[in-house]
Amino acid sequence: MSLNLTHEPARRSWIESANAAATGFPLQNLPYGVFLSGENHTPRIGVAIGDQILNLAALAELDLLPASARAAGRQPALNALMAAGPAVWTALRVRLSELLGVDSCPAALRTQVESCLVPQTGTTMLLPASIGGYTDFYASIFHATNVGKMLRPDQPLLPNYKWVPIGYHGRSSSIVASGTPVRRPCGQSKAADLSAPVFGPCKNLDYELELGAFVGPGNQQGTSIPLASAPGHLFGVVLLNDWSARDLQTWEYQPLGPFLAKNFATTISPWVVTLEALAPFRGPAFARPPGDPAPLPYLTDPADVAQGGLNLTLEVWLLTREMRAAGVGPHRLSSGNFSSMYWTLAQLLTHHASNGCNLQPGDLLGSGTVSGQAKDARGCLLEMTMRGTEPLSLPGGEERKFLADGDEVILRGHAERPGARRIGLGECRGVVLPAAT
Ligand code: CA
Repeated sequence: MSLNLTHEPARRSWIESANAAATGFPLQNLPYGVFLSGENHTPRIGVAIGDQILNLAALAELDLLPASARAAGRQPALNALMAAGPAVWTALRVRLSELLGVDSCPAALRTQVESCLVPQTGTTMLLPASIGGYTDFYASIFHATNVGKMLRPDQPLLPNYKWVPIGYHGRSSSIVASGTPVRRPCGQSKAADLSAPVFGPCKNLDYELELGAFVGPGNQQGTSIPLASAPGHLFGVVLLNDWSARDLQTWEYQPLGPFLAKNFATTISPWVVTLEALAPFRGPAFARPPGDPAPLPYLTDPADVAQGGLNLTLEVWLLTREMRAAGVGPHRLSSGNFSSMYWTLAQLLTHHASNGCNLQPGDLLGSGTVSGQAKDARGCLLEMTMRGTEPLSLPGGEERKFLADGDEVILRGHAERPGARRIGLGECRGVVLPAAT
């Protein structure tokens, strides 16, 4: 994926809030989302720019979009744009960058574009796409090893891990937009010292810090996607919280893997940051330690080895009910980097389609918990508290083994390096509600 004028770090927007050092949405980002505004009750595709949203449907009405993107820009979800493929994605990005750039948009045109702006404050962000299929992977070797140590101290990592990207099919219907409260699930769990399980509210509710990738054009059933072609099928990424009921999971996961411990809710952030926007932050794929097997040929490609990694900082913040009442801001629990993932996004996509399974525009691939080697880079409480045996102390004196009712989990992410404009992924938030009685 090549860099062009849209990545040029010195370029500025005529929307001043997009030039602020702290914004996650400068001219170089241009993420897509679906919003509802006060006056208009039809979901519209928007582009985040500073503290504003540029309404694509309104731009289409004024005939300001490239012809190839006009129909997709009018849709109430991003699926058609995702299906359109990289040539259309680039044409649209170049056009938006021109329209919003201070040096590339003449005054008369600027007035027209201004009429298509909506302040982010006061709008409601919806799910960005109709998600037909959701698959969650397990691509962090550090997460897999930490979790494996608790379950199997003698053999933390199962023998297939370094050969095959592990995943399972999740549930699309329970994916919710950031800000949607999540009810504590009920389910079966069995204490180690009891002979029978009980049914009741989950006691060990957890989050998982993940990146979600939206599929672009995809493949016909019975065909596959070669690794070299995979970037053309990856539209963009969001933050993803794979809420997890650990006590339910422990009892149900054998022999078929996650089920009700995971499918009650998955939260994603509203703005889809395109892989094109992230091009300046690509780098080598994770370097496998000496002695690890090379991936099989269908999971090997020189371009993916050289550029398959993503330098993305991903953080978890916690705001408890007590902190909220005291007017205290959220506390950062951990910070990791996506470059520590054992498998690249392209490898996950290619592996998923390698058996002829058809991936479709708007399908969502979860990366799996993003954990690094360091203790403060562990992406879930299960790992951070070693299954609750080492509780966390919060600044106000509270302790957590797992999540309490009223806790709000906030995922944040950004990409940053010298010589590039810093861009943000926004936030993925969810408050835990008490279990239904
Ligand atoms: Ca997960």
